[in-house]
This record gives sequence, structure tokens and C-alpha cells, in this order.
Amino acid sequence: MTLLEAHSALGGCASWFRRGPFVFDAGATTVSGVGVGEPLGDFFELLGHAPNLHPCDPGIVFHLSSGKILRYHRDFEAWMGELERQFPELPHRRFWDLIRTINRKAWQLLRDVRTFPFTRVSDLEDVLRHPQHVALVPYLLLSTEAALKAHGLDHPEYLELVNGILLISAQATSEHIPFIVGCMALSYPAETYAPVGGMKGLMDFFEGQLLRNGVQVRKKSRVASFGEGRVGLDSGESVSADKIILNLPVWNMAQMATGSLRQELTHDSETHPGAWGAFTAYFGVAARVEGPYHQVHLNHALVKNYFVSFSIPNDLARAPLGMQAVSISTHVYASDEINKEDYARVILDDFKLRFQIPEVKFLTTGSPGTFERYTGRLHGFVGGLPFLYGSNPLSLLSPVTSDPSVYRVGDTVFPGQGICGVVAGALQLHHRLRSL
Ligand SMILES: Cc1cc2nc3c(=O)[nH]c(=O)nc-3n(C[C@H](O)[C@H](O)[C@H](O)COP(=O)(O)OP(=O)(O)OC[C@H]3O[C@@H](n4cnc5c(N)ncnc54)[C@H](O)[C@@H]3O)c2cc1C
Repeated sequence: MTLLEAHSALGGCASWFRRGPFVFDAGATTVSGVGVGEPLGDFFELLGHAPNLHPCDPGIVFHLSSGKILRYHRDFEAWMGELERQFPELPHRRFWDLIRTINRKAWQLLRDVRTFPFTRVSDLEDVLRHPQHVALVPYLLLSTEAALKAHGLDHPEYLELVNGILLISAQATSEHIPFIVGCMALSYPAETYAPVGGMKGLMDFFEGQLLRNGVQVRKKSRVASFGEGRVGLDSGESVSADKIILNLPVWNMAQMATGSLRQELTHDSETHPGAWGAFTAYFGVAARVEGPYHQVHLNHALVKNYFVSFSIPNDLARAPLGMQAVSISTHVYASDEINKEDYARVILDDFKLRFQIPEVKFLTTGSPGTFERYTGRLHGFVGGLPFLYGSNPLSLLSPVTSDPSVYRVGDTVFPGQGICGVVAGALQLHHRLRSL
């Protein structure tokens, strides 16, 4: 088995880079879904090894534009306490209790029903074989916004909090997200982990596992074409393969497909028109901020909110003693020409004041163009495709294609949930391939 990676480091949107004495996470910073019965938990069990992960509590700290600060704790009662303290007039408990229950059941559904993402009516029959899951169907037919309204929670400040969480975990806001997906996305901050050594630590772990399992890892090997049992590289080399698993965004796949697959993948690309882009900023600070993850709401015309990740204090693989490596990201439209200086100024002015950190070192910024350059993702579309409310559940992309040698995984195949979703999709495909 061979892994072909175009870049000199593994990870793609969950990769890393070095500047001076700092190692920065380039895109993804949080790891989630490592519990029993959740995708990364299942995956590590399958490997028989787990990486070194630092559990974060609170999972994320939310700074609302009103000045309210909410710490999303692991412990349900502690999280309820935060909400009750900041929004004493609103009835939270029933809503979050339901979220907790549906989230648990939805992950169980994905373990029992290995045909998700559904692409044929026959895939749905798998759900009917598990009658306990049929009760979840109504939550697919309700938007998260409607669920908030039904629970008396359509308060503007509350929506700022909920939409902020949904945007980073499901890539769309409450009116566009079916409640079942909303429950999974809104549960995400309860359980975040920071990989020790950052994404470099995590990727070193994965590379070690690949090598241990006899997989040949070929970096700086860019795929130029694939299909009908052959993979062509940029270098002109051509490799035969009985199974080709694409881990590329749908828009890239279409460009490289050969044979009859090209038309099919072009259709898939055209029917899934784009995704978000990201503005990112990376710098080192002399600080000791304990909670690594913060979402800051500004409601500024340019930057609605931004996500801050500090390296864990004393993680010397990432920053010298007494210092921390910081990555910041915010959603932007990938099609827009963005002025990185403007974004950096708005975010840094706020960051320095909020965290009382007057100076930053080795400031580096990124745009959709930067992501396109380093990950190859067409137009710098990142974050994956959301599972949108009201869309045909059979319109998701299938991990299988009409070419029996070609399969696909990645964040445009399994919708929404970052690394956790990518791993969930890979596990679904693993089960499909094992049952062939
Ligand atoms: C700013 C930002 C913050 C994020 N934060 C989080 C977070 O905190 N937690 C989380 O879970 N998710 C987060 N995400 C989302 C998450 O990073 C992605 O959804 C996930 O990493 C996507 O993985 P993928 O394998 O589908 O695609 P990619 O990460 O794009 O990986 C594709 C790989 O293929 C390689 N490649 C591309 N073209 C070729 C080619 N022609 N030949 C060979 N190799 C090629 C690329 O170099 C890359 O390594 C974030 C994303 C961004 C952009």
C-alpha cells in the first residue's frame, strides 16, 4: 500500500509549519470525537495505538460581542451553569439535554449504518433495518433554527453563540443545518483535545502508524491523473493500483480523472459549488494562556468572529519556555480578493487588548490563495461541504464511484465535521471495502 502526498509534510488542512522557534498549526488545531463509539476513538482502537492528546476543559471559551464570556465545559452541569449565569432568563436545559441525547444516538447510527453518506434509496433501507434509528428521522426534517425557536431560544445573543459553534463545526448557520447535524456540531466544544506537539505531533504519530503497518509514504509525489487502475504522477511516473482511494476535494478530483470517470466527477464538482475560504494568522507570544481554544465574536464589518488556538503551555515542541504559538482563523468567501493586512489589523488589535499580550513575534498570514498553494485545494476552498437543511439527503457524494478501482474520502465526501468527519468517512469506506 502506498500513500502519495504532494507536499513535503503530511496533514493538508491539518498540517503545520515552522517559523523561528515556533511550530504552528496551519489549519485545524482541535481534535474531537475520540470517545468510545466516536470516529477517532474507533480508529485508534482499530490501530491499537493512540496519539498523545491533551484534554481541554473548557473545550472552547466563547467571547460574545456583548462582552459575555462562556466556558463550554466537558461536564454538562458546568456548561448549564455557564449558560444559566449568562442568560438567566432563557430555558436552556431541555434544548441541551436533547442535543446531548441526539448526538449520542447519531454517532451510534453512523456505527450501525455503514452506507452513509447515502446516495441510493437502497442505502436508506439500511436505516430501516435498525428501527431504533428511525426515531431520528424527524430531526433531519427540522432546522436547528426551528428547534431553537421551539425551545424559546431564538434570542439574538444566543444565536451569535450557536451560529458561531455551527460555523466552525458544520460550516453553516442554524437556518441551514438540519437539527440532527446541529446536535452533533453543537456537542463538539464539550470534548476538544490539543495534540501534544500540535498537528506536527499528530501527523508524526500517523506517519509512524503508516510505516509500522507497512504503508509506503511518498511525500512530494503529486498525482496528475487517475482512473481504470492507474495513477499518473506529475513526474511522469505511472503506477498501477487495484484500489485508488482519493483524499482530494471534489473540485480537484474532476480535473484529474481519466476515462469514463471524468464526466461523473465533473458532474459532482459542478453540483457542489464551492466552500468557504479562510484568513489565517500565526505568531508567537510571551504568555501562559491555559485554555487553548477561544472563539471571539466581534461583529465587525470585516471580521464577524475569529478562532484562536494557543499551544499548550510548556509544550516545548511548539514554543520556547514561557512562550506560546498562536494560530488564528476566520471564515472568508474564497472568491473574494482579501486584503490580509486589513484582516490582520482588525484581529490583532482586538487580540492584544483582550488577552493583554502587547507584542507578537514572527507574524505570518494566510489567505485562500495560501491554502491553494500548500494543499492544492482548488480556489482555496476549505472546511468541507456542509450537510444543508432541505437538501436531498441522497445528493451527498458517495465514497464509491462508477470506476470499480476508484473510491473517495475527505471533507467533501463526509459532510461537515473536520478531521472527525474525514475519519468517520474513512471508517465507513473501510467497512464497505471489507464487506466486498
Ligand atoms: C483554518 C482551518 C481551521 C480548521 N480547524 C479545524 C479544527 O480545529 N478541527 C477540525 O477537526 N477540523 C478543522 N478544520 C477542517 C479540517 O482541517 C479539514 O476538514 C480536514 O483536515 C480535511 O482533510 P482532507 O483529508 O479531506 O483534505 P486535505 O486536508 O485538503 O488533505 C488533502 C491532502 O492531499 C494532498 N494533495 C492535494 N493534491 C494532491 C495531489 N495532486 N497529489 C497528491 N497529494 C495531493 C494535500 O497536500 C493534502 O495533504 C479546519 C480547516 C481550516 C482550513
